[in-house]
Amino acid sequence: MPSPSLQEALLNWFAKNSRDLPWRRTYIPYHIWISEIMLQQTQMDRVVVYFTRWLEQFPDIASLADAREQEVLRLWEGLGYYSRAKNLIKTADLLCRRHGGTLPDDHGALLLLPGIGPYTAGAIMSLAFNRSHPVVDANVERLFSRVFNLATPTKEKQTHNFIWQKAKELIPEGKARFFNQALMELGALVCLPRAPRCDNCPVRDYCEAFAQGVVSERPVAGRTKEIIPITMVSGILHHQGKIYIQKRLPGDVWPDLWEFPGGSIEENETEEQALVREYCEETGFAIQDLKKIITIKHSFTKFRVTLHCYHCCLQNCETEPTLHAAQEYLWVTPDELEHFAFPSPHRRLINHLAGKL
Ligand code: SF4
Repeated sequence: MPSPSLQEALLNWFAKNSRDLPWRRTYIPYHIWISEIMLQQTQMDRVVVYFTRWLEQFPDIASLADAREQEVLRLWEGLGYYSRAKNLIKTADLLCRRHGGTLPDDHGALLLLPGIGPYTAGAIMSLAFNRSHPVVDANVERLFSRVFNLATPTKEKQTHNFIWQKAKELIPEGKARFFNQALMELGALVCLPRAPRCDNCPVRDYCEAFAQGVVSERPVAGRTKEIIPITMVSGILHHQGKIYIQKRLPGDVWPDLWEFPGGSIEENETEEQALVREYCEETGFAIQDLKKIITIKHSFTKFRVTLHCYHCCLQNCETEPTLHAAQEYLWVTPDELEHFAFPSPHRRLINHLAGKL
């Protein structure tokens, strides 16, 4: 019997080994779109949880278009990169006004929508509409760097273009939906970054890096991102049973999320001195009675943040701030904190205080 082609080997493997994911049960375009946006920068297991919750609240494009921004941000909380959530609302609104509340079966039209780039457009076209468009994520880059034994980093322009071209050429007629997913799934489950499972790999016979004995050298490493450590302080300000929160500025990091004031600790400053200064600079409040709660470590983009968290009180009875780093403020009860979208480290602080950490 002749051996199957690389495509057949992959498709057969996928038919038997693909994970049961909620959006794979229907391939509804809206489901594919939401899952693909969530999957950017987020692990699959977490996305399944967020996706399921999301569909309960926003079952279709119309319900998302009608949503309040804070409602969406609260649901998105913890996934990071909040511009993705804001773009989802904008796109849902555009889809309702211009496309009858559906995603267009048109690559060019998809690329015109906020937050949809070549990767997501390709994913929607192939997974939702089964059209022959390539989808290259980090798993496919790694897989191809090994199968084609690429001796340059996958992010280099020529290598990047080669991978996308190959991903397009290889799609079997009428099978884009399963073939593209099979590539990504193989990268995620078998052709792993550190210990690829070559013994169980359906495309081993086609893998040049395996044949050459250089699997551990592929993909070739590119420039590593510089990691910037930051030490910060944040304070929960209490007054008569309520807590002060403020809404961050639109152009800021974590735009439009709520927070407890604070900021970076400057050279030669103690944590307490930094918090007193930050409160004064951001709100005009003079604070006292600082009491340490917890230190939280958090990573986002290139930053590694160490956040020292405190309780504090007002020095006087003036409760109206002068806002210098926020667009809005509120005094809320501890229970009401549930209703607002906070950056991840602040939510972890809230959960810690509620005994959930
Ligand atoms: S043989 Fe090994 S390195 Fe090659 S594609 Fe399969 S898992 Fe990856």
